[in-house]
This record gives sequence, structure tokens and C-alpha cells, in this order.
Amino acid sequence: MVTGQQERSQVQRRFDVIVVGVGSMGAATCCYLARRGVRVLGLEQFGIPHALGAHHGHTRMIRTAYFEHPDYVPLLERAYELWGELEDQSGEKLLHLTGGLYLGDQQSELIAGAVAASKQHGLPYQILTHAELQQKFPQFRLPTSQQGFFEDRAGVLLPEKVVATFAAQAMQYGAEIRGHEPVGDWESGSQGVTVRTPSNTYQADRVVFTGGAWSGKLLVDCGVQLAVTRQVLAWFSPRRIEPFALGTFPAWYLETESGYGHYGFPLLSGQPGFKIALHKPATVTDADHVNRQVQPQEIEQLRSVLREHIPNAVGPLVSASVCLYSNSPDSHFIIDRHPQKNRVWLACGFSGHGFKFSSVVGEALADLATVGTTDLPIDFLRLSRFEK
Ligand SMILES: Cc1cc2nc3c(=O)[nH]c(=O)nc-3n(C[C@H](O)[C@H](O)[C@H](O)COP(=O)(O)OP(=O)(O)OC[C@H]3O[C@@H](n4cnc5c(N)ncnc54)[C@H](O)[C@@H]3O)c2cc1C
Repeated sequence: MVTGQQERSQVQRRFDVIVVGVGSMGAATCCYLARRGVRVLGLEQFGIPHALGAHHGHTRMIRTAYFEHPDYVPLLERAYELWGELEDQSGEKLLHLTGGLYLGDQQSELIAGAVAASKQHGLPYQILTHAELQQKFPQFRLPTSQQGFFEDRAGVLLPEKVVATFAAQAMQYGAEIRGHEPVGDWESGSQGVTVRTPSNTYQADRVVFTGGAWSGKLLVDCGVQLAVTRQVLAWFSPRRIEPFALGTFPAWYLETESGYGHYGFPLLSGQPGFKIALHKPATVTDADHVNRQVQPQEIEQLRSVLREHIPNAVGPLVSASVCLYSNSPDSHFIIDRHPQKNRVWLACGFSGHGFKFSSVVGEALADLATVGTTDLPIDFLRLSRFEK
């Protein structure tokens, strides 16, 4: 016999679009869908925001001279516009422009790639010789082979605040956002999409999956393997504060091995200290069974980079954390329709560099989930590239 309460909890509620995963990309998608008057439901397995996925750790770098691939630059241009709009509409400070300093050998992927992206898109930048670097940024100690690339239009986004702000804006525009409601299974048919959580069954015309490190589990049949990796970040108490203050010190990225490097930010209020992390996929893990304990040798590796290159930044350890990358096979994002299911859209594989794009990805997904296409130049991020 089915009781009244059971009946209520099993009621199938219908939406235009369900967004699964209200993290970086999902919160933005809910916001841009709700602003268009779309009936949207956002389902998140944890709280919003939370510290178990990819959007915690206080800071994310935004930069324009995109060494990874010049095709990201037009998306970044739109992302910046949307960040400004979100700050205006919410009244929240979400982005600090600090300038960005990228350090490496002239032929390094970082410097050569940043120069190539800038030339292709006419972006302003400055190359700093080793001597100029020492004069302008004496905080760094670098081999004489290294030079600097500086761009004004780089800075720091505050990720937890961004996710909370997008979710709040979405609700303000009428979205239903539900935290602590994990999506168990789902199916897509000719009549619509059904999404089940432990307490409810929902239906919608379309669904958007923005599950971050859980995307591989949600999208078992989309034909691409995503590798989830465990990334360590740490904050140290600097020996001196003034050289690293906001307004004096830039966001920085130092290529410490070919194609990869360490990075960090100026000191910001609300931060536990001077942050450093390595941008390189680390140990492969399972998003539901992550070792969240940071090991002393992992701290020592980060400390030794600071000791060698930014000696005044390294003092006692203040905090450390584990974060998850979800890596696509080529380290580029995946934004597309599900290969077999017409009503299903997905955005995943952000490979440790997606946050700065979350505004524009949200806008693109809102386009895709409503009209099935977008004017934003995302063709290079489609699944079909893996078929070649
Ligand atoms: C240490 C670190 C440093 C980084 N630094 C930068 C940087 O400086 N600049 C930059 O641009 N990018 C950076 N990134 C990358 C960027 O943060 C990620 O690319 C981005 O956050 C990925 O967004 P996402 O929405 O895919 O994942 P998330 O923000 O993790 O969101 C996915 C959400 O889906 C939810 N979910 C999953 N499965 C389910 C389910 N079954 N039911 C309900 N909800 C579900 C998850 O709980 C999660 O909240 C960094 C990442 C890390 C880890």
C-alpha cells in the first residue's frame, strides 16, 4: 500500500531543464537558464558550495593570453564581460585584477604559447628579460635562462563566492536549487528525461550534466574516459607580507617542468596565507574514495619550490587541502550533446583550468539546453574531436 507521504515524495515534478551538479559550471548554468525564464531545477549532491570537488580553495586564476590553445581567447573575452555583469547585478566583489606574470624559458610551452595566443588575438603583453624581472619583481629568484610574460588583464576569482552567487541569482530568477540531493540514476526517452534522487523523481524536457569529477559515473556511455586526479594545494605564512600584498604582487605561474608549473596569488583577505599548487594532473583517484589527508612529503615538495624561487613567501604551513581535477584525454574541455541522447547536454573534463570560464560555459549551456545551438565559439570542445 502506498501512503499519502510516499505518494507525495514520488510525485513526478516537471521542469524545462534539470541541471545535475550545482558546482562551478552548474550554478552558472542554472543562473543563465533562470534569467531566460526557463523552469530550471538544479540538483547538487553536497552543500552549495562545498569543499569536496573542484571549486574550493579560495582562489582561481583568470588570464587571457591562453597558452593552452588560442581558441579559448574569444570565450575568455565573453567570460570577462559576464564576470563584470555578475558583479554588477549581485553587488559582490568576485574578481580582483592583479596582472599575471608567467615565468619560463623563451621556448617553454607557457611563454611561447602565451605569445602565440596574444599575437593571434591582438592582446597586449610585455616580455621581461631576466634583468627586468629582477628589477620589477624582486620577490622571485629565477635561473638566468628564464624570462617573464606579463599581462595586465589577469587576476583572481573567488570560487566559493562565485558558486554561491550564481546559485543565489538563479533562485532569485525563479530556479529551484536543491542541495544534499544526489542524482542516482536517470533515463532519457522520447517524452523527456527522468532523473531520480533518493527522495524524488523529476522529469524535464532536457537535462544538463555538470558533474565535475563525478561526470564519468553519471555519463558512463558518452564514449570518453575522464581521469580524476588528486591535487594538493597549500598556504604558507610568508616571512614578509608587503612584497606579496594585493596591488603589489601579481597572480603568477612558473613553468617548473615542460608544459606544467606551479602557481599562486597575492595575499587576499580571507585567505589562510600564501598559496601555492602544482598545475599538473597528479595521482589518479575515484571521486568517492579520495584520500583527503595531505602527506608531509607533498607539503615539502611545494615548500621546496617556494624556498628556491620565492624565498620570502615560505614560513610555517598554515593550511592544506585536496582538490579534484577531471581530466579529458587531451586536457581540453568537453561541451556537447550526448552522442546517443538528444535531450542530454554535458560539460565536463575541465582538466584543472575551467573555473575562469564558468560564466561563459553557463551561458553556452543555457543556449544549448534551450535552442540547441550557441553562437559562442565552442566547436573545438565538441566530442567529435576524439573520433579522429
Ligand atoms: C586545486 C585546483 C586549482 C585550480 N585552479 C584553477 C585556476 O587557477 N583557474 C581556473 O580557471 N581553473 C582552476 N581549476 C579548475 C577549475 O576549478 C575546475 O575546472 C572547475 O571548478 C570544474 O567545474 P565543474 O563544475 O566541472 O566541477 P565542480 O565545481 O566540482 O562541480 C561539479 C558538481 O557536481 C556535483 N555532482 C556530481 N555528481 C552529482 C550527482 N550524482 N548528483 C548531484 N550532484 C552531483 C558535485 O558535487 C559538484 O558540486 C583548479 C582546480 C583545482 C582542483
